[in-house]
Order: sequence, then structure tokens, then C-alpha cells
Amino acid sequence: MYSIQRNQFYTIVTSNESVLHLRCKKKCGWSLRGTRTSEHSRGFTIVTYKCPHRENCVTELLSNDHPHLDSSIISEFVKSFVQKDPTLKVEFIQELISKQFHFEVPYKRAWYAKDKAITQIFGDWESSYSRLPQFMQALQQSNQGTVVIWKHKALVEGRYTSNMEVFERVFWEFGPCIDGFKHCMPVICIDGTHLYGKYKGTLLVATGVDGNFQVFPLAFALVEGENISSWSWFMSCLRDRVTQRDGLCVISDRHAGIIAAMNDPNIGFTQPRAYHRFCVRHLASNLKSHVRSTITRDTFKAAAYQRQERKLQADLFSIGQACTKLLQYIAQVPFPTWSLFHDGGRRHGICTTNFSETFNNVLKGARFMPVMSLVELTFHKVNRYFTLRRESAETRAE
Ligand SMILES: [Zn+2]
Repeated sequence: MYSIQRNQFYTIVTSNESVLHLRCKKKCGWSLRGTRTSEHSRGFTIVTYKCPHRENCVTELLSNDHPHLDSSIISEFVKSFVQKDPTLKVEFIQELISKQFHFEVPYKRAWYAKDKAITQIFGDWESSYSRLPQFMQALQQSNQGTVVIWKHKALVEGRYTSNMEVFERVFWEFGPCIDGFKHCMPVICIDGTHLYGKYKGTLLVATGVDGNFQVFPLAFALVEGENISSWSWFMSCLRDRVTQRDGLCVISDRHAGIIAAMNDPNIGFTQPRAYHRFCVRHLASNLKSHVRSTITRDTFKAAAYQRQERKLQADLFSIGQACTKLLQYIAQVPFPTWSLFHDGGRRHGICTTNFSETFNNVLKGARFMPVMSLVELTFHKVNRYFTLRRESAETRAE
């Protein structure tokens, strides 16, 4: 920090576990030598310090950067910021450094610094994956009824290796959620959130809706991405381990992976066991690519919420007058999947996945964390959900 702030440079003469010896790069006589007094002490003691640099020992900087301002130094400096907000932008780190040290560090170095800080705070990515099985086992042992399902792949880079298990997906759900869902409405909202960590992936979340129209956390899974295979796997896990209820309403966006899973009779969500409904807000925003006018999109939303056929027809008529192509597009989306009039009472009045998204927003910060911290966070959030509900139930009972 001293050298960075004074634009001076040192060369490292010795740096090992017990000695750190630095010397002025211009050999003006400045030097610093520290030793570690015992094996157990964490710091170094300065034993010799020859200073200051000679008056004419000034290094002209050719660029607006300092060689000692590496990602480790930056990481130390920004750690407290990253801890408060793991979603912090790399540009923000660059700005901080510029304000504090008056140097411009490249994006890549600032990115590495953030990565180092995240590793120090939340644990590193590799060991987070390898410690996950033990962590899940501990979760299961201490929380009765918790379900964890692993999926491993035996193919590594196109070759079959039977003696090696490579993590592909994991599904988890906490015991109280399975019991509690029996008392919730027969509605499940499903949604995927992209993860931004070193290993990209997607967090799939299923939530229910309780009798007070509050989101009810149900199940989670870490998968490689949203596709037919991953959604089918997730939905099968839900059917096998979470709920066998019939007449379920599943609300989602129109991802092809979800539609395929819902239509696969082997998975258990085809009619009459389950009914697929689309999130009206997602649908309306899909219309953006067909029509610019927000008024027309709002008319579509109004149409979706109409419970009387006459009013629905009137809205569709005005959409058709504004844009014939849009009406044709809407007409090919099956009416029961979006219109409350054609719903048959499956949705219980729930037209969007906003419920589950509010819960997912809580997990947003976790999108930058190593997997174990992510799983841990879902545990704490679910735990908090039940604690708050129990407390409010107890005060009402008093
Ligand atoms: Zn010097």
C-alpha cells in the first residue's frame, strides 16, 4: 500500500514462510526486512528498515497502472464491499480503486480480485462442489424428511468412465415443505434462474401458494441449464418425492423444456393429473416482439383476467383491430393456458409466477456464490419462512 500510494517500486529479494526482504527497484538504499518470530505467529516483525527513498528516487509511470496493485491487493481492499453485496459490478471495483489509489486497473484484474474475494468469503468453487455431498448428508441427518436426489454422469469429454462420478444435477427439498404442501392450494409455480459463478448453471425453483396467498417454498435443483432433459428430471423428482396430488395447476413461462415435460405422460403432469397454465405477465412480455404498443399488451392482460366471455371477446376484438397478426399469434396459444374465463378454476385466481419470483429475488444475491453457500442460503430462507409463520400463528392464538 505504501509503495502503491507513493509511486515507488520494490524488488523482492527473499519471500518465503519466515523471511520477507524487499529492496528499492532503483537501488537507492531503501529496504525492508521482516521475519516471522515463531511458527505459530501469523504476522511478520520488521527487523530492518532503511528509509526513506532518496529524494531523487522517483519512478515515472509510463501507464496509469501500478505493478504492485495486483488482484490480491485489490481483493483485500474490496472484500468488505463484496461481502455486503456479492452482485457488485466489476466496474464498481474499478471505480473504487481509481478513487482510492488514482490508478486505472484493467477489467480482467478487477474481475479476478472479485473472484478471490468471493472465494475468501464464501469458500472456493472447486471445494464447494466436492464438499456438497457431505453437506447435503448433514442437512438430511439433522432435518427429518429432507429429500436429496443426485444425478451423476459417467461420460467425461465423450468417454465413458465408470469409476468416476461427475456431478451433473442435484435436487433438494426440506421435510416441512412436503408436509406443508398438503395444506396449500393445488398450484405449483416453477421458474429457472441463471447462476453467474465460475461454473455456470441454473437454479430451478418450485413454489406453492398457501391459503393466505403467500409463496410457499417447495423444492430446488441445480442443473446445467434449462432444457427438456433437465426440466423433465426436475418434474419427475417433484412427482416422485414431493407430491402425488391430482388436479395440480402448474404455472410457468413458455420454455420449450417445461412444455415438453408437462406433455410427457411418463412424468405424471398430463391432464387430468395436472393442468399447465402460463404466466400472463411472461406471455404479455413475449408479445413485445410482435407489437410495440404497450396499450395493446395491456389489453391482452385485461383479456386474460376477464371472467366473462362477452368482455373477453370485446378485448380480443380491440386487439384484432390494432393488429391482426397479433390476434392470430394469441389465438394459437391454447385459451385455457392463459384466459381466466377458459381456465376451469384450475389457477385459483393466480395468473402469474410473481409469487415464486419474489422468493427467487431473495436468492438473487446467491447467484454469484459457490454452490454450497447457495444451498445453505435456500435452507436459511426456508427456515426463516417457517419461523415467521409459526411466530405469527402463535401471536394470533394468544
Ligand atoms: Zn528508492
